[in-house]
Amino acid sequence: MTGRDGRAAATTAGDRHRIAGRAVAVSPHLDDAVFSAGGTLAALVAAGWTVRVVTCFTATVPDPPAFALACQLDKGLPADVDYMALRRAEDRTACAVLGVRPVHLPLAEAPHRGYADADALFAGVRRGDPAVEMLAPALRAYLADADLVLAPQALGDHVDHQIVAETVAGIAADAFWWRDVPYVARRPAATPWRCVPAGVEVAVDIADHLVTKVDAAGRYRSQLAYQFGDAGAAVSLRDLAVAEATRLDVAGAVEALRGPTTDRLPLGGRSVPGAAVGPP
Ligand SMILES: [Zn+2]
Repeated sequence: MTGRDGRAAATTAGDRHRIAGRAVAVSPHLDDAVFSAGGTLAALVAAGWTVRVVTCFTATVPDPPAFALACQLDKGLPADVDYMALRRAEDRTACAVLGVRPVHLPLAEAPHRGYADADALFAGVRRGDPAVEMLAPALRAYLADADLVLAPQALGDHVDHQIVAETVAGIAADAFWWRDVPYVARRPAATPWRCVPAGVEVAVDIADHLVTKVDAAGRYRSQLAYQFGDAGAAVSLRDLAVAEATRLDVAGAVEALRGPTTDRLPLGGRSVPGAAVGPP
């Protein structure tokens, strides 16, 4: 595997611990990358990669507006809990399970940016949303030296996911794009957001890493009931990995990524090329 700058491994003379490459997963919220691509991240770590999960919308906002506060209360958390601090702590724990490094960008989630109810979160990006301009400068430094960038397809149409997808597409056109969990489980035929480039679909074999993924996902305790319901994260994530394998006509348990080519995903021959896919 060589990076976009031709680097195949750490190049400093005398490096005792050669690394296979640097990967960055760009997560809209504190859980998306692990829920959607946690098996791939674990596989990269196992293959010697250094992996960062950069989560974009993680800021604590004092005195949240009504809808933002409701998003906390409906998770069973009282108003005096610093909801985002709790979620940042969950993310650090989940990332430790995977062996990846968490980075928390200080942008506010959509309910703090004028999206006033649940419908608004899925009705397109508001004119003048400050996150559209703020995200690229906040993200660029983390992507500059990445050999591999992972990002959401924005299945499910959440505005924060769409903004992340648009921003990453503008910085790292050769990224690989994951299918957003749990949205993809509800709508397996959903198509990527319009900014996601055409490419090939790659089935990443995560069978050896599913236990680790489920362990990591379970650390987002505040989100589990809301996102996975009575089925729970473990059953849901296992079922999804098998369903994705069936969809792509491969064996086992997989995460499906869309990318520019099959051979840039360096997972020790685990990648199985899927069908070429065109624009959504
Ligand atoms: Zn999300």
